Amino acid sequence: MNPLDKLVDDFISEAIGKDVLELVQYLKKRENVSEFKLAEHFNLTVNQIRNMLYRLYAHSLVDFTRKKDKKKGWYIYYWDFYLKRALDAALAHKEKRLGILKELLKREETGQYFSCPDNDVRLGFEQAIEHGFKCPECDKILVQDNNSRKIQRLMKSIEELEGEIKTGKEAAIKRAEEIKIKEARRPIRKIKTKRKKVSQRKKAKTWAAKKSEARKKKSTAKGKSSKSKKAKKR
Ligand SMILES: [Zn+2]
Repeated sequence: MNPLDKLVDDFISEAIGKDVLELVQYLKKRENVSEFKLAEHFNLTVNQIRNMLYRLYAHSLVDFTRKKDKKKGWYIYYWDFYLKRALDAALAHKEKRLGILKELLKREETGQYFSCPDNDVRLGFEQAIEHGFKCPECDKILVQDNNSRKIQRLMKSIEELEGEIKTGKEAAIKRAEEIKIKEARRPIRKIKTKRKKVSQRKKAKTWAAKKSEARKKKSTAKGKSSKSKKAKKR
């Protein structure tokens, strides 16, 4: 797998779910694919396909246009996958994780840690003092942590992650022109769908709201008044 695809796939499985990977793969190679065609190809219901598409849409990785079917009188949605957006999101995701790892490393390098011999707890210096250097779970004397291994592991992860970001960026630059040309072929649809996009987002919201509403109904029989209050706030 080329580094660019790997970067995007890793991000999608982590942030959205592995189950959409095949759909993404399919959309990557095509343009303007109808939901019905997708449902047929993957042998799923249109609602199942829509659920996957909405999840991708929530991360702005796909976009759609709709056309009215003159014979049947309903709208058919056609979907596109946007590799550039996925790439940006994947890189941002990795950068964020890198920041967290660096922060963790800093904490390990600058702080003192104490842990229970039974590994129930691990406390910072201040907390260890608070507990009189005794394990709050089992009362055993805490011992100072040798965190050099932890530090090494963190440094290794940081190095790997930095490497992945570098490779990803290089791959993105290499294919930037190709992606730009491909995705710029869709300008007319983008303009056309601008207004509709808002209504679709509203739809997605209502859809999510309905779902949570149904969940609430299940969990509480009462609370009608509080529900209507919430609805007003929204
Ligand atoms: Zn303990």
